[in-house]
Formats: sequence, C-alpha cells, structure tokens
Amino acid sequence: MSDSWIVLLGAPGCGKGTQSEFLASDYGFSVISVGDVLRGGKGTYVEERGRTVGELLDSGELLPDAVILNLVRSELNKLGPKEIGKVLFDGFPRTVGQAEGLSSLAKEFGRDIDLVLNFSVGDDIVVRRILGRYKCAGCGKVFNDFFLHPVVSGVCDGCGGVEFERRTDDNEVALKRRLFEYHEKTGPLARYYSNAGVLVDVDASLSLDDVRDAARNILNKKERE
Ligand SMILES: [Zn+2]
Repeated sequence: MSDSWIVLLGAPGCGKGTQSEFLASDYGFSVISVGDVLRGGKGTYVEERGRTVGELLDSGELLPDAVILNLVRSELNKLGPKEIGKVLFDGFPRTVGQAEGLSSLAKEFGRDIDLVLNFSVGDDIVVRRILGRYKCAGCGKVFNDFFLHPVVSGVCDGCGGVEFERRTDDNEVALKRRLFEYHEKTGPLARYYSNAGVLVDVDASLSLDDVRDAARNILNKKERE
C-alpha cells in the first residue's frame, strides 16, 4: 500500500478500534486516535473559553474544532518523514467543520484524504454487542449474551471462575443517546466525503475477520486504481 491518509467512520460498537489496529499492522499506518489525543492534551488551555481541555471534557461541553485540529497537528508533527505518508485517523473528524479543517491540515503536509472507510452496522446489532458484553472477574475473558457464551453456562472457559462483571455505563438509555447523536452528526459527514468521492461503505455487521478482509480488499483495490 503506497502513501495515503485514511479516515475511519463508524458508530460506537462497530468494531472500528479493532479494525484500525488490523490496518495499522497489515499496512504500517500510524494511527491517530483522537480520543487518546484528547486524553493526552487535557492540560491544554483553551483560549476563548478560559478553561483547559480536561475541564471542558469533564463538563461534557464540545471542544472548539480549532482546539481539536491543533492537537491533531501536534500529533502529526511528532511523526517522522516516512511515517507521515501513511496516517489513519480514528474517531476524527466528527463534524463537517472538522473535516474541512482536516483537509486544510492535510494540504499543509502536502497530503490529501485519500479514502474514508465507513463501518456501517445496524443499531440493533450495536445494542446487542455492547449491552450483551460481560467478562470474567477472575481472568478478564470477554463473553456476550448474544454472540459468545461460555462452553459450560455460568463457568468461565479461561479459568473456571463463576464470577462475572458488566460495565455499568453500558446501559441502554445512554447507549441509544450516543447512537442518536452519532447518526445526527455523522450523516452530513458521510455525505461530505461521499461528495468528495472518497467514501466507501464497509458492512461491519460481519465477523471481525470478514470485516478485516473487506477493508483489505478496498485498500488493495484503491492501490490498483
Ligand atoms: Zn476466567
């Protein structure tokens, strides 16, 4: 795969994080995960609001696009001359304004957004994937009420433990709100990239390996164009 900048879009629970790891190891992309960037930049002072990134995140307020773009720029500046050719953006852009900012940023580095993979999956599948998830309290092995049962019901395959835990923030109301917000914001974003001719849909309802193959096929096809 020759040099390219790629954006991954997808709702919470679509498996985008795992796929970005696959693409990084399969093709040698440097991944810029904006969630990680924001957590790393918590002390950054936001001029117009008089507070830090951490304070705004804690208050649930949206960060100004300019602040996010500056944090992304500083991550890009950390990459070496070879690494800068292959970059994958995960969890960013979230809005059309950010996408426009990313385009300008790409130009500063003499690049373009070459491909946007849109991992699409029905909300019903996301809800079952996330709400059904639980793990062994002993060894941390992950199971799912809908997709992955222990061989013996109620007993961990990994360690034989019988205690399991569920994440408390995985409740249904919060999840449905996140999905609603996601669709509201990223609908226009998908149209923006579709109009730019770089958007390709990936069916993310398939197994992780099938989604990985589908993404690889898209990248290899792009390479031959
Ligand atoms: Zn276990």
